[in-house]
Amino acid sequence: MLAEIKGLNEECGVFAIWGHEKAAEMTYYGLHALQHRGQEGAGVVTTDGDRLHLHKGTGLVNEVFSEDKFSQLNGHAAIGHVRYATQGGGGYENVQPLVFRSQTTSMALAHNGNLVNAHQLKSQLEAQGSILQTTSDTEVIAHLVKRNGNVPMEEAITYALGMIKGAYAFAILTEKQMFIGLDSRGLRPLSMGRLGDAYVFASETCAFDLIGATYEREVRPGELITIDENGLRSKSFTSQMERTLCSMEYVYFSRPDSDLNQLNVHASRKTMGKQLAQEAPIEADVVTGVPDSSISAAIGFSEESGIPYELGLIKNRYVGRTFIQPSQELREQGVKLKLSAVRGIVEGKRVVMVDDSIVRGTTSRRIVRLLKEAGATEVHVRIASPPIQNPCYYGIDTSTKGELIAANHSVEEMRKLIGADSLTFLSTEGLEASIVEDRDPLQHGVCKACFTGNYPTEIYPDTVIPAYKD
Ligand code: AMP
Ligand code: SF4
Repeated sequence: MLAEIKGLNEECGVFAIWGHEKAAEMTYYGLHALQHRGQEGAGVVTTDGDRLHLHKGTGLVNEVFSEDKFSQLNGHAAIGHVRYATQGGGGYENVQPLVFRSQTTSMALAHNGNLVNAHQLKSQLEAQGSILQTTSDTEVIAHLVKRNGNVPMEEAITYALGMIKGAYAFAILTEKQMFIGLDSRGLRPLSMGRLGDAYVFASETCAFDLIGATYEREVRPGELITIDENGLRSKSFTSQMERTLCSMEYVYFSRPDSDLNQLNVHASRKTMGKQLAQEAPIEADVVTGVPDSSISAAIGFSEESGIPYELGLIKNRYVGRTFIQPSQELREQGVKLKLSAVRGIVEGKRVVMVDDSIVRGTTSRRIVRLLKEAGATEVHVRIASPPIQNPCYYGIDTSTKGELIAANHSVEEMRKLIGADSLTFLSTEGLEASIVEDRDPLQHGVCKACFTGNYPTEIYPDTVIPAYKD
């Protein structure tokens, strides 16, 4: 279902550019394209070769940056970040990039993901005298790097990467170098492109399209890229390099116009919808998707089933994002302001309502009610992903087990709770088949741990699960 409706809960976005005379502006535009990945804060750091320049703030990209800010952001290289606070809260001090200044080399760090052993590393660092200024685990990476302050940065970063575990895609900028890295499982997306002679990196390829950059390749799992006056070089910091990219990126998080690991997100969602129509056929009059993220799957369902696709639900684009309803009762009313059922389409009809996922079940319940109030005679809910039964430890706020409706109820119980006439989820096989193609020798399926409970990395008992916010 559309992020805008529900308070825009997604994960962070990273952008970086090296070798462009308007590096700060390009980063600003890149962050605009990644805005859906985080709305709580945005920041850009540039280097002019001698000094790092930072501007960041809480809020949306266009709230944080005004034209006069760019005159201070000099330099040919920049990194940027949009933040969705999965870890450590949303205050100004946690807005990235984080900058660590020192007399030798200063560094700025922008990171997307979640470290599963951050808690242990923080305790160790504090026991050894480090003073952590923020509550975000991004700072842990910086402290580990800085502990080896006397060796070249590339070595210090490699040392730090040897200690951290979990999911991360990061960009580091010093006065004279840029470093780009991805965890050994490639859990978070990170692509590389070119803009003229400049190197560009972004969490999603939609950022390349916006600035006119061309896609070059994915950053490889376990890869550390260094760029400086000698050009670009790449190395693997681990021998374990198997890509298991997060399948929820395809299901819900990424923009439909992005390609993840060279597969278009809209196309993959359409295949999920087709697959779902094969797995759970139903007799009905119209198919409708919940705007925006479910539209692609609904189109796929319609194509495969032959049931016409209709605009049974529309959203009101102009509801402010700060429209936060305090009580559950008011929130139930609030959804009517943001989403409407189209009476002329659904009245007297048997409706297939396709949504991308169910987390707590609140959204589906509200929408089934909306459709029935608008005169739908039957509402068949088809979910284009499997039931989410396990928390995510890799930076996505799919909530704790207690809040996950599918962790605590059977499909039939869920059907009753959301008031649907039938309810079916896509199988995990169907999900994987919609995403995994034989195009990347490093690809070893996708991460499906929130559906299956099979986590692709070790999970530490006290790993902090990001809080789910709605
Ligand atoms: P819920 O009402 O909690 O069941 O939310 C389910 C809806 O939230 C679905 O329509 C998805 O589009 C969307 N969604 C899925 N995962 C997330 C997430 N991690 N954060 C926010 N929204 C999500
Ligand atoms: Fe993505 Fe789920 Fe894996 Fe988390 S557990 S990385 S949300 S697939």
